[in-house]
Amino acid sequence: MKNIGLREEILKMSGTDPALCMKCGKCSASCPAYDEMEYPPHRFVYMIDQGNIAPLLSCTGIYRCLSCYACVDRCPRGVEPAKLIEAVRVVAERKKEGNRIKAGGLFEKAGADMPSQAFSAAFRKYTK
Ligand code: SF4
Ligand code: SF4
Repeated sequence: MKNIGLREEILKMSGTDPALCMKCGKCSASCPAYDEMEYPPHRFVYMIDQGNIAPLLSCTGIYRCLSCYACVDRCPRGVEPAKLIEAVRVVAERKKEGNRIKAGGLFEKAGADMPSQAFSAAFRKYTK
């Protein structure tokens, strides 16, 4: 079933556009987690573009991705499959328990020695 609203949310979170994919398969050919993903990167990208997102939210592959970015490096169209996978993983986690980290409580929880990059990443992920 198509879920266009969720497709748009994932595109916004990931900052990448699956419609640019030319289905060459280079991302999947370079993926070290290929055998453990129900939907390898090229298929993952296609399903998001089609708005077929429900199976992706419940697949184990979103937790098998190593975030190695080989798929990002190899993609000739700049699609960045790893970012789409990460966005789906975040949506899946939010559906389970909502946002676990509230931006306002970060400083209190993390302490003064937390790297500023970690704060930036957390704000990017949890305030969209
Ligand atoms: S980032 Fe994930 S999907 Fe992309 S090549 Fe690495 S393991 Fe595969
Ligand atoms: S490498 Fe890029 S263009 Fe090729 S199938 Fe993967 S996402 Fe699509």
